[in-house]
This record gives sequence, C-alpha cells and structure tokens, in this order.
Amino acid sequence: MKLYNTLTRKKEEFVPIVPGKVRMYSCGPTVYGYAHIGNMRSYIFMDILRKVLKYNGYELKSVMNITDVGHLVSDADEGEDKLIKSAREQQKSPWEIAEYYTDIFFRDIKALNIEVPDIVPKATDHISEMLEFVEGLVDKGYGYETSDGIYFDIRKFKGYGKLSRIDLEGQQAGARVDVNDEKHHPADFALWKKASKEHIMQWPSPWGMGYPGWHIECSAMGRKYLGDLFDIHTGGVDHIPIHHENEIAQSEALLGKPAVNYWVHGEFLLVDNGKMSKSLGNTYTLDDLTAKGFDPLAFRYFCLNAIYRNKLNFTWDALQSAQTALDRLYEGVLTHKNGADEIEPGVAEAFMKEFEEAINDDLNIPKAMSTIWNIIRNPKKSKELFQLLIEMDKILGLDIDKADKKNADADPITEEIRKLIEERQKARKERNWTLADKIRDELKVMGIVLEDTPDGVKWKRV
Ligand code: AMP
Ligand code: ZN
Repeated sequence: MKLYNTLTRKKEEFVPIVPGKVRMYSCGPTVYGYAHIGNMRSYIFMDILRKVLKYNGYELKSVMNITDVGHLVSDADEGEDKLIKSAREQQKSPWEIAEYYTDIFFRDIKALNIEVPDIVPKATDHISEMLEFVEGLVDKGYGYETSDGIYFDIRKFKGYGKLSRIDLEGQQAGARVDVNDEKHHPADFALWKKASKEHIMQWPSPWGMGYPGWHIECSAMGRKYLGDLFDIHTGGVDHIPIHHENEIAQSEALLGKPAVNYWVHGEFLLVDNGKMSKSLGNTYTLDDLTAKGFDPLAFRYFCLNAIYRNKLNFTWDALQSAQTALDRLYEGVLTHKNGADEIEPGVAEAFMKEFEEAINDDLNIPKAMSTIWNIIRNPKKSKELFQLLIEMDKILGLDIDKADKKNADADPITEEIRKLIEERQKARKERNWTLADKIRDELKVMGIVLEDTPDGVKWKRV
C-alpha cells in the first residue's frame, strides 16, 4: 500500500512499525459550533484511510481527539478560546456547548457512515498528561515563561519548519509586528496559557491557574494512547504549517526522536470555488444538505469522486449529480442482486485486482469508483458480481448492501420538490413572504410539510 507522506513530499510504500499492526491519530473537531461539510470531507478521508488499512488486514488502533478547550480564534495563539466565545454568544457554559456540538458531530459522522475511531479522547480529560508534557519541555530548556503563559522556543528545536518547509528566518524578517513582545520569536507558540480570574475553563499548574495550548493536546493524547512512536497522523492541509509543525516540535523535543512516521493530509473542500465563509453564507452543514432532500451518502459519494489530495469544489448542481449517480448505483447493484447470469471465470478476480490496486495506490478512490461502474455496467447480471460489490463497499461505505431496502422505502423527494424547497428558501431570503407562503402551500398539496428550525428548513412527508 502506498501513501503520500507530507514530510517527505513523496508517495511511499507504507511499512508499519510492528508488522500487521497500525496505530493512527487524527485531529478531531473543535466542538464550538456545527461542523461544516469541509470538516466532513476531512473525516471521510480519515474514514477511507482506516477502512483501506483494515481491508489490507492490519489490526488498527485509531484515535481522534475532541478539542473542548484551548483552540483560540486564531491558530497562532491569539484571541479568545473558541468554546468560551461560543458559550458567551449562546449564553451557555463551555461544557454545555461542548456536549451539544459533540453529540451533533457524532450524529453527522454516523449519517455519513464514518466509523467512530477506537478511542475518542476529550482534551479536558487529559490536562494532567498535557501538564506533564509541558513540564518535560520546560525541564529540557524548550519552554520558557512569559507573563501570559509558557511558550515553546522554536529556535532551540533544529527541525522546526521541516513539515511545511517554511523558511524561519524569512518569516521572522517578514513577520508583522507581534502583539506579544515577550516571545523570543514570532512563531513561538503557547504550550500553556495563564488564565485570568474571569476565564471560565482553568486548571492548577506549576505556573498558577491556566489552560493548555491547542497543539499540546494532540501531542499529549497521541502519546498517551499510541505511544512514543506511531505510524500515521492525519488532518486537513490547513494544519500543516502551524498545528502539525508545532506537534512535531513538541514531541521530538521531548522524546529526542520523531513520534510519527507518516503525515497524511486531506485537501480542502471549496464552495463555489472559494473558501467557505460565514459572511458569504456558504458555510454549509450536513443539515443544510438533508433539508434540501439530499441523502447524506450523496455527499459521501460526491467526496469519493475526488482524490483526497486534490481540492474539491462543492456546488448544489454537483451534489445533485452525485445524488443522481448514487441512486443509479443502487439500482445497478440491484440488477446484479436479482441477476441469474453466470460470468466467465476470472472476471470477478480481474475486477477485484483493479479495485485493490486503486485503493492501495495512495487511496485512488475515483479510480476504484470507475471499477465499480464497470461492474455495474457489465452486461451479465450475476450474484457473484453482487457479492463483489458488497465486498468493495467495505471501503466505500455507501450502504450498497442496503440497496434493496433503500429502493423499498426510497426517499420520495423528487427533483421538482427539491427545486421548490430551494425557491422558497430564496424567496424567504429576499423577504418575499407572499411567494414563500405560496410555495409552502404548493408543497403541502404534494404531501411535503416544511418546518423552519434554527438549523434551517426541514421537510417531512405526511
Ligand atoms: P477544526 O474543527 O476547525 O479543527 O477542523 C476539523 C478538521 O476539518 C481539520 O482536520 C481541518 O483541517 C479540516 N477542515 C477545515 N476546513 C476544511 C475544508 N474547507 N475542507 C476540508 N477540511 C477542512
Ligand atoms: Zn491536532
């Protein structure tokens, strides 16, 4: 199996530390708000990688953290804690906020057939491990104290910048005036932050009350559950220059050797060819997709049509095409399930070989999907091919084994209804209440009742 390692910028043959076993860490969500479909693309990538490893017979131990403290508004240690900000805005406690959005996160990943990793540690449950890590770094001379926290001295760590290949000196020369002039270098980052009395989440430490920096969380929890050296670390590409660079610095400084063999990153999901942003109103969640009648697995299918290392552009039209293709796929699977043809010897094996070569070539899922479609289009309809598709779905996670059921209680929403819901949304946005109400009534006649919830419009059939 080949994997692209960001550290070496090469597609490498994957060799586990212990034969037959893989230990993998994935950066998980910061639970201060709804995860958007870009986040979900990253978790689908993590899921595919896990499934391919298991398919290859590896015994997998995988960890994904839940960040419920310490992730500041700017990844570079500036601004308010994202959870505390969200808690203030919603007049809840940060603990309530974390619990609420963690539940929704698990609901969403379940709908997308993303398996929950074996261990899902919460940052707030591991403060002592983090403190031990920070104290170790301070003892070794890599951490220093300022008036607002303990910082990592990047110039003491020779390998700083090796993951993102940034030029530190260049960065220093070009750096904007730093707000924290106690730092030795603008890129020095917080291991631990001191908390004021009013700060809600805080714990005792050798430096008074405070809370952990975001980067130390992953280093400390990864080490606790996977050991000083593990095989794979994943995350989105945005984590390469700061979060993962800092994780490497912390772990290698403390342990005196690398902690991770393969760094694997998923590219971004774009919306309308740009970054999702609250101000543009295009930060979509899975709920936004299902409210328009799309199957969550249509989004999964949409993601499977791109190589994880390439950017992928989301549009509603593209999602509609994915939904149509997925529905056709389900129908195609059924024709094999109900087929009685015999296939030539060797045909199934050849399809399997093609599929396995694709998934093992740095997760080339689009290529694997083309094999799937070749099987679907095979003129001979056979149960053997149906079994083959079921086997392949262990990687794809499209529930094609439930094709029968899916068709039996097939989602009755049609293209026409979907369009009407969209038009009503548009009318509401434009405050054209008369038109919005007219469409609502039209839908009612068609048996679709709409409900406007704080999370967007939901529909149900009556
Ligand atoms: P966060 O909760 O912000 O820490 O992000 C969770 C995961 O989603 C991280 O692995 C990010 O790298 C990833 N991510 C954030 N935005 C996007 C996006 N637009 N496309 C793909 N992945 C993303
Ligand atoms: Zn992380």
